[in-house]
Amino acid sequence: MWNSRKVGILGGGQLGRMLVESCNRLNIQANVLDAENSPAKQISFHDGHVTGSFKEREAVRQLAKSCDVMTAEIEHVDTYALEEVASDVQVEPSWQAIRTIQNKFNQKEHLRKYGIPMADHRELVKNTPEELAEIGEQLGYPMMLKSKTMAYDGRGNFRVNSKADIPEALEALKDRPLYAEKWAYFKTELAVMVIKTKDEVLSYPTVETVQEDSICKLVYAPARNVSDKINQEAQALARKAVAAFEGKGAFGVEMFLLEDNNLMLCEIASRIHNSGHYTIEGCALSQFDSHIRAILDLPIPAKSLEIRQPSVMLNIIGGSAPDTHLKAAEAALSIPNAAIHLYSKGAAKPGRKMGHITVTAATMHEAETIIQPLIDVVDKIRA
Ligand code: ATP
Ligand code: MG
Ligand code: MG
Repeated sequence: MWNSRKVGILGGGQLGRMLVESCNRLNIQANVLDAENSPAKQISFHDGHVTGSFKEREAVRQLAKSCDVMTAEIEHVDTYALEEVASDVQVEPSWQAIRTIQNKFNQKEHLRKYGIPMADHRELVKNTPEELAEIGEQLGYPMMLKSKTMAYDGRGNFRVNSKADIPEALEALKDRPLYAEKWAYFKTELAVMVIKTKDEVLSYPTVETVQEDSICKLVYAPARNVSDKINQEAQALARKAVAAFEGKGAFGVEMFLLEDNNLMLCEIASRIHNSGHYTIEGCALSQFDSHIRAILDLPIPAKSLEIRQPSVMLNIIGGSAPDTHLKAAEAALSIPNAAIHLYSKGAAKPGRKMGHITVTAATMHEAETIIQPLIDVVDKIRA
């Protein structure tokens, strides 16, 4: 039957949980590899889950035995384990795509061959102050020093404002493989969710993302103050970038819209992405629905990726106390058109993504007006 194949998911955090929500509605069994009682496992009762880490070779082998198609909610997985099991089980997207993408420098070197515009960058091989100073001469200041691997929510980035910052920057990112990027003077940050199927590369409309302390805070769908031309160009760039990789599923493409209206790629994630959460309420098929359909070769009508109503998504990030995120969700209970998603991750830590809220309305202006009191609550929690 079309829904009888089992999906294996590396990682059971909030992204895995929302994938399981999509699987549940289609009666598709999702086997999750993560710790006991992880958010994804809490909503999926069967004996196919695997306890362990997506970084453990043996655990990945065990998951491979229990499923037909394997996917990941995170790019920081053991791709050598995926390579090994790929002869027994379908891995989507391909382990090659995940391996290249999980190293941001390799990702950019790969995309350069396809003519994707990106900030100029240089690899560090010695991680010495002299080497970085020489790169600073070439790229100019400010520049962004970045860890090639294990980066998320800006942890792995350090803004180097001048030569004087070099010792502090190298200390902050010590023992990590590094590269440096020329500063991108952007007007706004844009993102596009791309869905790669067996024979097509589809995209959701272009959205605007707002980061605070390098963590995604707000997503406006569609992007505000962006012409239809730029919206289409951003989608085309995102599809072209994703087409450079093998395999099926959702990819999140982050971009900069520069002062001169040119677009530049920031980075790609080989998975469902925070900038696509609005699709749960905003579109007929969510990014999670589309990902599952893409990896199982089920139909995805392109029309179902269009935005039905303007949407604003607000992340609920952990604050000073363990329960502050519940206060934000409580305030949202009384807000019209607000869909609340709590991830059930246990106690909050500052900076940890605990949930999100999406407001949809007939116009973007209305959605912005409705969500403003919640933004105020979230700002107060973080302060
Ligand atoms: P994510 O959580 O999205 O995976 P990350 O840790 O991989 O984040 P990036 O996406 O590379 O980090 O950068 C985080 C943010 O830092 C960007 O969204 C952007 O706001 C800013 N940034 C990154 N690179 C540059 C640059 N070259 N110039 C200016 N700002 C930048
Ligand atoms: Mg990243
Ligand atoms: Mg990013």
